[in-house]
Amino acid sequence: MAQRDSESGTPKRLAMLPYGRQWLDEEDKAAVMKVLNSDFLTQGPTIAAFERGVADAVGARYAVAFSNGTAALHAACFAAGIGPGDEVITSPITFLASSNCVLYMGGKPVFADIKPDTYNIDPDRIEVAITSRTRAIIPVDFTGQPAEMDRIMDIARKHGLVVIEDAAHSLGASYGGRMVGSIADMTMFSFHPVKHITSGEGGMIVTDNESYYRKLQLFRNHGMTRDHDEMEQNEGPWYYEMQALGFNYRMTDLQAALGLTQLGKLDKFVGLRRDIARTYTEAFSDIPGVIVPFQHPKANSSWHLYVLRFELNLIGKSRQEIFNDLRSANIGVNVHYIPIYRQPYYRSLGYSDIGTSQAERYYETAISLPLFPQMSGSDLMDVLNAVKRSVEL
Ligand SMILES: *Cc1c(COP(=O)(O)O)cnc(C)c1O
Repeated sequence: MAQRDSESGTPKRLAMLPYGRQWLDEEDKAAVMKVLNSDFLTQGPTIAAFERGVADAVGARYAVAFSNGTAALHAACFAAGIGPGDEVITSPITFLASSNCVLYMGGKPVFADIKPDTYNIDPDRIEVAITSRTRAIIPVDFTGQPAEMDRIMDIARKHGLVVIEDAAHSLGASYGGRMVGSIADMTMFSFHPVKHITSGEGGMIVTDNESYYRKLQLFRNHGMTRDHDEMEQNEGPWYYEMQALGFNYRMTDLQAALGLTQLGKLDKFVGLRRDIARTYTEAFSDIPGVIVPFQHPKANSSWHLYVLRFELNLIGKSRQEIFNDLRSANIGVNVHYIPIYRQPYYRSLGYSDIGTSQAERYYETAISLPLFPQMSGSDLMDVLNAVKRSVEL
């Protein structure tokens, strides 16, 4: 629904269209109510049911749920044995959590540049960044398009590195016909409300590796075990043992119940996201100065984000002008992401933008459009019209 903005006279939606939004129905709400009326608000049976559901959906043997995706990444770095002095290679074009998890363990994130077409980490730049201290790679499936996982796994095997795939954007995606979650050593999913399915806050690591699985469980619960087979000693049936410095990173049963009913809608949600992305690409492909997202032939994205890039000199506007045009039309655009090394905290650690020119070029010209499964046809038209109005001569 468009009205005229009283000051500029340009058409404007009545309400801001967010860039992402959850979609909850009565089934979801009833599932949470059922847990509220049960004996277990946390540490109950719904956690394992949600873990089994996600593991089966993505083709993994084990899954461990966490309070959020950031906690899950932290745990994965613990399970991978990242410690002081260890280097972990990741992309600079991602959310802060992808590299903060390395800092939590005392390790050093190393940023390898992205590819100019997919905006995902460039395997050639990973190889160049490997040193004798490199222990792991954290590829990020940016926007929902999987990173080049076949090449990344080959590089990791060659150098004995652990691969932790940040799949916060790519639940339901596949690469080379394999589901994301069945490729890397460990794969992280997030269930924040803007992601594909939500549990309020929530995250998960899936893996086929039993040793990682045990360590993830330990880390989630204070580094503590009650499994007598796992213990160094046994002082009796009451005995519990702390074997590492873990955290309380548990998910509640309330969250797991919501996640589980949401999981049943994943195929529908991903299908709708793909439909919207296709409509965007069809609408924007022929506009001079507008660059639509390139898709690697092996990747089948689940489309968390839809990023447009602009040839600003051709359009004759700055990125900020286009951004402001869209925001003033109540289109909730965003920029994903500011290269991590630009953040003051990272600068204080000595990071700068040397050698990541593709990330810089990407960042200066990118805008993410609203994309979520419940977007209506008229929401979509509002975005198409607002973008065209801003960039067409
Ligand atoms: C959302 C997100 C995370 C962290 O997930 P939370 O559940 O919000 O902690 C990590 N990496 C990326 C790329 C994300 O988008």
